[in-house]
Order: sequence, then C-alpha cells, then structure tokens
Amino acid sequence: MSRGRALVTGGAGFLGSHLCDALLGDGWHVVVVDNLLTGRRSNLAHLANEPRFELIEKDICQPFDAGKIDYVFHFASPASPDDYHRHGIETLQVGSLGTFNALENARRYGAKYFVSSTSECYGDPLEHPQKETYWGNVNPIGPRSVYDEAKRFTEAVTMAYRRYHKVDTRIVRIFNTYGPRMQINDGRVVPNFMKQALLGEDLTVYGDGKQTRSFCYVSDEVDGFIRLSKSDEHLPVNIGNPNEFTILECAQLVVKVTGSKSQIRYEPLPQDDPKQRRPDITKARQLLGWEPKVNLESGLRLTLDYFRKAVEERTSAAR
Ligand code: UDP
Repeated sequence: MSRGRALVTGGAGFLGSHLCDALLGDGWHVVVVDNLLTGRRSNLAHLANEPRFELIEKDICQPFDAGKIDYVFHFASPASPDDYHRHGIETLQVGSLGTFNALENARRYGAKYFVSSTSECYGDPLEHPQKETYWGNVNPIGPRSVYDEAKRFTEAVTMAYRRYHKVDTRIVRIFNTYGPRMQINDGRVVPNFMKQALLGEDLTVYGDGKQTRSFCYVSDEVDGFIRLSKSDEHLPVNIGNPNEFTILECAQLVVKVTGSKSQIRYEPLPQDDPKQRRPDITKARQLLGWEPKVNLESGLRLTLDYFRKAVEERTSAAR
C-alpha cells in the first residue's frame, strides 16, 4: 500500500539520496526537487527505473508547486564547510527563501513537514555535550555564519509556520555524518582523510587536532530521520552518534582502516572551527527508541569500497 507522495528537497545530495532510498523502502512515492548545485544525479542513478521515483531539476529558491504531496522533507542546502564557503549567498538563500517555498508546499496541501537542521546551530558550544535546549554560541558575522544563521533562520521559519499556519512540523539537528555518496572533494574531514590515506598523501589535520567531533554512520542517521518523521515531536531533536573523537584520533583510525603509510601534516585551524561537539541523544533515545549501532571503525570499513572507487575514478579522469 502506498503511503502517499513525499517531496524531498535536496534529494540528490548525500543525506537526501539515502533518505529517498529509505522512503521508497517504506512505501512512499518520492519526488525530488534539486538544483544539483552540490547534489549529483549519480547519487540517484540506481533509481532510474523506479516507477515511484521522480527527479525534478529546479531551484527551490523560486516558488514552486510539487503537486499534491503528503509529506515534505526539506533537505536542500550546501552542507560541508567548503561548499557553503564557496556558495555562501546560495546557502543563505536556500535556508531562507527555499525554506519558505518548501513550507508553502506543505501548507498548500496540508502535508506534514520535516526539516534538516544542524549541530551548527550550537556554534562553538559552551555547553557539552549539546542538549536540544541549548541556544548555542554562534558568531553571526564570521565565515560560518552563512550556514549557521541560515539554519537557525530555517528553524525559526519552521516554528512560525507551525504557530501561525498550523503546519505539522518536525526539526532534526544533524551531527557529523559520513558514508557512501559523500563527495570525495567536499572538504569534510572523513572524505579528506580517506582520499589522502588511499593516495598515500599526508593527512591534513587542522590546528592541533584536539578539537572533537562525533561521527554517525549514514544508515543510523537515516533510521533516526524515519523514526522522527513518524513521531509527533515538533521541537528539535538531535540525531547523531554520541561517541566523541579528537580529529587526531579520527586520522589515526583512517590510517588503520585503510592500512595506509600516510603521515600526519598539521595545517592552520579555520576561523570559528568548533572546539568540541557531541550530541546529547537522551531525547531521541526516550522519544524514538533510537540510538546508533555502527561505531566509527566499522563505519569507516563499510565506506572503504566507496572511497576506493571514488579515488580511482578521480585519478583515471585526471589522466
Ligand atoms: N578537519 C581537519 N582536516 C581536514 C578537514 C577537516 O582537521 O582535512 C577538521 C576541521 O577543522 C574540523 C573537523 O575536522 O575541526 C570537522 O570538519 P568538517 O569539515 O568535516 O565538518 P564540521 O564539523 O567542521 O562542520
């Protein structure tokens, strides 16, 4: 039995495409709207013959009508620091104009609405680990503000549509996630280290490598999305892995998993780089019965084949 039609903005991206797979598996007809700024058709190539799937190439910053829909999953945005630095204005636009347009689709058809927010709402956090009740420590004019403030605004518009227009909304705050379909050149730490280790290059650790992140494998992350999408919770929920690693530990683990002989090279720390990050997932545990199952070492092993192929494709294209 079909659950109905789900719109996924940003469905050609890393997380969006995995979400599409999960929704199709759950019985949805899925319509992706994506302008392919940072998303890729290849992430959805395996769905080419799927009758319950459509891809519409369109910029959601312009008003659009996706037709009768039952659920909106708003995932469109550049998300890696390199991408949102390169596309700062587009990041602000999709978080603001794009969010209005996604919400208007939900409002028009009385559809449920689910939006991807981020741990970046907490900025360089002074509370650790981060609970959903923490308001954050964000520099509103620094280089990361194009993303952080766009996402904080996204949350504000979402809550306003709930209060003023009675749209049935949900907000997930996503912490660092990794897995197949990440772009090898998106500049994030896992693809950078994997690529460098597989090519035998130095691993570039920014700063002293003592800053921390907590990495969630993509299947765990998407399982959290699906559970939250079925709940009635409308306040933000953290979905991320609570196991915290220093970036140096992450580098050492990548070297171990790849069996590489790469060395560490230290490079300057980017401005406003959060010093620590770890989700408090008590709420997700209690509310959704959710917690991640895949630890970082196993997840890196699961991702190894994908990165090997991506590195090979890149090197053969460069020849
Ligand atoms: N990082 C690093 N080397 C790299 C890429 C990133 O040391 O080649 C660090 C970065 O400074 C940050 C952490 O790894 O402290 C995570 O960076 P990423 O860009 O993956 O995402 P963020 O959590 O900062 O949004």
